[in-house]
Amino acid sequence: MNQATKLTELISCLENALPQTQCTKCGYPDCRGYAEAMARDGVKPNRCPPGGNEGIARLAAILAPASKLANINTIDPECGEERPRPVALIDPKACIGCTLCIQACPVDAIVGASKQMHIVLPNWCTGCDLCVPPCPVDCISMVNVTENKTGWNAWSEDLANEARQRYHSREKRLKREEQDNNERLAKKAVAKLAALNETHPTSNTEHAELERKRAIIAAAMARAQKQKSSS
Ligand code: SF4
Ligand code: SF4
Ligand code: SF4
Repeated sequence: MNQATKLTELISCLENALPQTQCTKCGYPDCRGYAEAMARDGVKPNRCPPGGNEGIARLAAILAPASKLANINTIDPECGEERPRPVALIDPKACIGCTLCIQACPVDAIVGASKQMHIVLPNWCTGCDLCVPPCPVDCISMVNVTENKTGWNAWSEDLANEARQRYHSREKRLKREEQDNNERLAKKAVAKLAALNETHPTSNTEHAELERKRAIIAAAMARAQKQKSSS
């Protein structure tokens, strides 16, 4: 097995051992990002509060030789602390339906529409806290649902797998929506360009203005084309 394959396998092993809440408390954009940082850059395995101390032990066992990591057995306080698992709860009387929490939720656990009350699907919520800061009216509270159980004692491999699937589905949906939006804008630009081509400037100023608009639209179309070919 070559080095690159070994590294990919190590990253996957580490990722599989993470709780998949995608909370970013480790300082990386998602669990995969943290797994890559541990495998590639030797980042320590104590940056995942949802996994807690049990999580450190699981990661250390993969990152052999574990003896080197024997003294790393508590969560780095910079990342937060191991705690009972909470679930988000929205106060229906205070919610103004701004949708900011939906945009922040990595696993699509919030349901609602613009200007309507939002609710959290408790069985889908990973307790990541990411919906709390964007709420403009502070109507989301995090409620402990596991009493004194913390870390992996308050979570399971099945829940982690479900959370990972929802995260990936959401990523796919966002990408699809972005592509649809780009296509819509590209069509709009083509129509605008066609309309501009029908106009007949009667002065140098009008001609210069027409060229300026054409250049803007052409640049936008080139950007859209570039995005399409890179996706
Ligand atoms: S669960 Fe949160 S802290 Fe742990 S690896 Fe995933 S994103 Fe990072
Ligand atoms: S509802 Fe809030 S706490 Fe729950 S998963 Fe979504 S963003 Fe995280
Ligand atoms: S961010 Fe707050 S106010 Fe906005 S929809 Fe979510 S819960 Fe309601």
